[in-house]
Amino acid sequence: MSAYHPLNETEAIEIARTMKNVFPAGAELNCREIGDGNLNLVFHISDSVSGSSIIMKQALPYAKVVGESWPLTLDRARIESEALIQEGKLAPGLVPNVYSYDPSLALTIMEDLSDHVIMRRGLIEGGRYPLFAGHISTFLAQSLFFTSDLGMNQQDKKIRLRDFINPELCKITEDLIFDHPYTDADTNSFDEAIRDEAEALWSDGALQLEVALLREKFLTHAQALLHGDLHTGSIFITPESTKVIDPEFAYFGPMGFDIGAIIANLLTSFASRIHWDADEPAREAFRAYLLSTIAEIWTQFEAKFRALWDQHGVDRLASAAPGYKDDYLRRLLQDTIGYTGCKMIRRIVGLAHVAEIDSIPDTAARERAQRLTLAIGKSLIKLNRNAQSIHQLIDTVKTTT
Ligand code: ADP
Ligand code: MG
Ligand code: MG
Ligand code: MG
Repeated sequence: MSAYHPLNETEAIEIARTMKNVFPAGAELNCREIGDGNLNLVFHISDSVSGSSIIMKQALPYAKVVGESWPLTLDRARIESEALIQEGKLAPGLVPNVYSYDPSLALTIMEDLSDHVIMRRGLIEGGRYPLFAGHISTFLAQSLFFTSDLGMNQQDKKIRLRDFINPELCKITEDLIFDHPYTDADTNSFDEAIRDEAEALWSDGALQLEVALLREKFLTHAQALLHGDLHTGSIFITPESTKVIDPEFAYFGPMGFDIGAIIANLLTSFASRIHWDADEPAREAFRAYLLSTIAEIWTQFEAKFRALWDQHGVDRLASAAPGYKDDYLRRLLQDTIGYTGCKMIRRIVGLAHVAEIDSIPDTAARERAQRLTLAIGKSLIKLNRNAQSIHQLIDTVKTTT
């Protein structure tokens, strides 16, 4: 234990040396800092003798936001390590193993997943992951059902809520996803070429009503323990394996926010294919793959969630009341569609963008991808409370140009 300070690579190696079960005496340890440095340090430490390796993630006490520092609680490192441990119990094999957590240094030591790729990058390169829909639907069904009032003791849930009070990270979401894109906020960031689209968001009352309702639910609906930042940059993947990382935004919120996060990022990928596929048939094929993955994620999630409810439901009335289960799943689909739209729009006009679109070098193609993302996002938000089936989401994507 030592007082908090950001570690350097030499100090990270010294800490790793104390892990005798991973690195035997005589280990030759190398360390590289591989994080992007905005919020957290990530050290990769490996032993060139045995080949063993680990990851150390340390929270920084601030976020660098457009050049300025924004104080940010170190407690999010505790929340992240606790959420990873909880998710690992509910969805074994779908998150990295946590070896230790040191509160004084806000430091989590975990399994090295360097043999996987970050899914956002994998998709840019045209990777296909046939097991992903199965894996992520299991992750979602297990982690959401068993932390909700349907699947866990309702008294224990109220107590458990206290471990995941995460006001500062929730505030980031509340501002950057559910407020700033809909007004002329300083944090917004967009290409001047699409200023007309940004300004349209600032005056679209019907859209703002839907976003305000989704925002209200994010603020108040402690439905289940969410990951809270489940985009394709928080997923390590191979054709055989899926690992969810980075749950520092975890809190008890509306389930559709996590499901929508995944779908939104598959749809920013969809829009970006305008550049990444060389020809029309390849683009159509990749887009069809993405849409079938989205449909599979929802369909498998729903089937798994219903099965868990049938077998492990703890709420007598919720299980017995005719039509309640169908109504619950319908509302969850509607939330999912609404949050999908919100998470698409913020990636184009808000502070944090996505590489599959921002790195399109051709300005005309990039603008088309941005306009398509916004158009789909707006349509989904306007659809959300009327949706009855995932096919309406798919049809909306297909018919939006
Ligand atoms: P942040 O919260 O700062 O976004 P992440 O947890 O997403 O941090 O990690 C940032 C990067 O560090 C990841 O994109 C990945 O490249 C690397 N990384 C994080 N965790 C691991 C891990 N368990 N194994 C290998 N690399 C990792
Ligand atoms: Mg990052
Ligand atoms: Mg991350
Ligand atoms: Mg993070």
